[in-house]
Amino acid sequence: MSKAKKNNLLYIMNPKCGWCTKANPVVDELTKDGYKITTLDITNPEDAKKANEAKAKHNAQCGTPLFLDVKTGNMVCGFREKDILAKWANGEEIPAPPPRPQQKPQQRMRKLAKLEYIWVDGDDEKSIRSKIRYVPLEFGDEENPLPFDAIMTQIPQWTFDGSSTSQSETSTSDLILKPVRFFGNPLSNRQQNSVSYIVLCEVFNGDDTPHESNSRAKLRETVDKLDESNDFWFGLEQEYVFMNASNGLVDGWPENGEPEPQGNYYCGNGANNISNDQRQTVDTHAQFCIQSGINLGGTNAEVMKSQWEYQIGPASAISAADQLWVSRYILNRLAEVRGMYVSYDPKPVDGDWNGSGCHINVSTKKTREEGGKENIVQLCELLEESHSKHIEIYGKGNELRLTGKHETASIDEFSWSDCDRGVSVRIPLTTVNNDYKGHIEDRRPSANVDPYEAFSVMIETLSVSELELVV
Ligand code: ADP
Ligand code: MN
Ligand code: MN
Ligand code: MN
Repeated sequence: MSKAKKNNLLYIMNPKCGWCTKANPVVDELTKDGYKITTLDITNPEDAKKANEAKAKHNAQCGTPLFLDVKTGNMVCGFREKDILAKWANGEEIPAPPPRPQQKPQQRMRKLAKLEYIWVDGDDEKSIRSKIRYVPLEFGDEENPLPFDAIMTQIPQWTFDGSSTSQSETSTSDLILKPVRFFGNPLSNRQQNSVSYIVLCEVFNGDDTPHESNSRAKLRETVDKLDESNDFWFGLEQEYVFMNASNGLVDGWPENGEPEPQGNYYCGNGANNISNDQRQTVDTHAQFCIQSGINLGGTNAEVMKSQWEYQIGPASAISAADQLWVSRYILNRLAEVRGMYVSYDPKPVDGDWNGSGCHINVSTKKTREEGGKENIVQLCELLEESHSKHIEIYGKGNELRLTGKHETASIDEFSWSDCDRGVSVRIPLTTVNNDYKGHIEDRRPSANVDPYEAFSVMIETLSVSELELVV
């Protein structure tokens, strides 16, 4: 068959289409080989009209490029290599190419997040409040997942009724919750395509100033002023007592009278000393805290029956305080499961029973790295000078605990000593035995202390010492 005779071959194309730019040189070559191919550029209205008529005639459901024999309807839809197109030009029917492997569609990962907003309230004995919000969050796609920070910045501010948390008058009750730190939420069952976070918030007024109860903002300011030599680490020992919600008594205590005097409960074992429900709650609490990124170091049963302790840290001031509040929240929630609640009362039961403290362990770069008795003594002396200022913020009702009995020192006098648990500030054996390199333990704060406030005053008192030591 003579190539030249054929004059009914159409190449329907669009100059902007990528496959057409590949097809153009092939069409040129075929033309050189003697085939007569008419190019119709569909961006040109006249050509487009012709192309549409030809396509309609043969019902060609095809974009560009389209190779169409307008006489027979023989067509190639899309670009093919020269040998194939030459066959088409010769009138051979060209089978459709095998389907291209399906490109996996890039799934954008959007998940509904259960966000547990928590914040510290304005009660005399501060406690933590929470409310929950479900928000869709973007996680990027499978190949490019968004980094954690980019996911967290999507978590919105929220508001709450401050008149119900001792934080405002009813007339101006709306306060703002600003998310400041995020923890994986161990309290929430993970379901497919959902996630959950505990969202720690600071409380702000409507005019964007920190609310007066927002002691975290004050601690931030205090920490911001510190220079490098003032590198404080804090570790906390949170003591608390499990209460039975059905009768308001200490959990596991008899309805009338008291259990066996204290003596065997501390680090005890056996069901006469320890409640299984409580121990399980303590264990789950530790596990959940660790899972959510809290630096929980250990737990122990305490001196009073149903009294326990866990330790947090050491960590920087803000981080340790944030972790303490979140760990308290997780503990309260777990107690709920077994019909209990947690008492942070400094003296939950009068009489010959230990109170609950929250010892604050502190070290500075100097005491950690250089050590030396004089540095430790200096810290103690500074704490002595500011004793009353510290006592003021070390917890509500602490005067009932700091009696000089039950491993405490009297609230009226400051004392410090090596390895003594009856003093205000104890220098632990580990520090003494390490050439006074390490931390000191302030035993005065009570279980209900606000760590933001306590660390602020501690840094104010002790950072002076760093300056003096530098001189
Ligand atoms: P104890 O019951 O003997 O007072 P714990 O073992 O219960 O002591 O608690 C020790 C606490 O000291 C923990 O909270 C821990 O985080 C803290 N701690 C340990 N090393 C340091 C340090 N270098 N600076 C501050 N705190 C520290
Ligand atoms: Mn301890
Ligand atoms: Mn203790
Ligand atoms: Mn201690």
